[in-house]
Amino acid sequence: MPEHIVVVGAGQAGSELATTLRQRGWSGDLTLVGDESSPPYQRPPLSKGFLLGKVSRERLYLKPAATYERFDIALRLGTRAETIDRAPKELVVRDGSRLPYDKLVLATGGRARRLTLPGIDEDRLGNLFTLRRIDDVEALRPQFLPGRRLVLVGGGYVGLEIAAVAAQLGLDVTVVEAAERLLARVTGPEVSGFLKDVHRSHGVRFRLAATVSDVAVDTSGRRVTGVEVSTSGGLERLDADLVLVGIGMEPNTHLADAAGLDVDNGIVVDEFARTSDPDILAIGDCANQPSAYAGRRVRLESAPGAIEHAKVAAATILGRPQASTAAPWFWSQQYDLKLQMVGLSAGHDRCVTRSGTDTTLSAFYLTGDRVVAADVIGRPADFATARQLVTSGRPVDPERLADSEIPLARAAL
Ligand code: FAD
Repeated sequence: MPEHIVVVGAGQAGSELATTLRQRGWSGDLTLVGDESSPPYQRPPLSKGFLLGKVSRERLYLKPAATYERFDIALRLGTRAETIDRAPKELVVRDGSRLPYDKLVLATGGRARRLTLPGIDEDRLGNLFTLRRIDDVEALRPQFLPGRRLVLVGGGYVGLEIAAVAAQLGLDVTVVEAAERLLARVTGPEVSGFLKDVHRSHGVRFRLAATVSDVAVDTSGRRVTGVEVSTSGGLERLDADLVLVGIGMEPNTHLADAAGLDVDNGIVVDEFARTSDPDILAIGDCANQPSAYAGRRVRLESAPGAIEHAKVAAATILGRPQASTAAPWFWSQQYDLKLQMVGLSAGHDRCVTRSGTDTTLSAFYLTGDRVVAADVIGRPADFATARQLVTSGRPVDPERLADSEIPLARAAL
């Protein structure tokens, strides 16, 4: 049994792993190293209730500080891990101290992807933002004021959540999305169209199949005044008081890379969360893992995914390795709509929808007669059944699936 466990990354996965190890009775030294100054917190509210001002900072924290003390977890916040010295098994942190480990767990998450336009230094611009951390929201909030013109680059889930908050706060919002429809990588056209209509009804405008080709900056060089977008119809300038770039994230793999571990769209791990060095594990958004459900490798970006992966790593460290068979799931909140998604729809051959009112829709993605993924909007009761359909792989009758008069559970054959 290992005596020293060091976890890098005090986020959703790192915090879950540390507390799970203690809950399962592991009593060795346990250090959680995080480069942010806040105690481990949940990110999902950052683009929802926290940005809206309805969720306090304290409510973001995953556990009260006392829990880490009670569990004897050494929390080293504001501490960046710099290198892994694999031969002596030591983690070197920014102040030069070396933390010995028997098992090291990388739970380093990711960072917001940047625009990278030639000649534009994004760090100098006081009204161009990304949103990944508490600090990002705190920097952004003072400019999130009614009447301000917000250009939001990226129509993914996080971008749409921010658009919803901004519209609710009275900003004038235009979303620029490179694909021809919203959420094109992860949902079918029915869901894309439904969400577009919802946002439009709140005054949000869209430029689809549009890419940012330039940003206009004022004479101080510190403020963006507009965004130039390129569409099939030519170039268009969108005036902006602030710009938010929500074009996804990049996994933090630098430590793993420099230590010579296998990295390929994330830190490559096996089904037990072990990297190419058996004494180093990787979990959460930074890890590229085999998925029994998907039958291929995936790198998930989801809070439940991070929690599930932490539990896999805990089992491995405790000598009882157990791979996860769970289908990934995810949720989003836009206006008063709750969206719940299960499974991965890529490669499906048919989408069946069960429509309801203007504010509810369920979309089921089928391969043959099996539901491989589902998006459930505004029907939480259907979500539990949708998860069972995806997880069980039971064949369904597509006609019954589409008929909202028939209880969803009776769609299974
Ligand atoms: P993170 O939570 O990112 O934690 C990683 C931590 O490691 C960070 O604190 C990072 O600073 C730290 N770190 C990195 N490198 C080092 C280093 N060298 N030294 C020390 N520390 C380091 N998921 C959902 O399921 N539903 C949602 O509605 C949802 N909404 C989201 C909204 C936003 C705005 C964002 C950003 C994410 C959202 N997610 C959502 C995704 C979810 O938050 C992530 O999947 C989850 O946080 C991943 O957990 P993690 O521990 O892997 O990474």
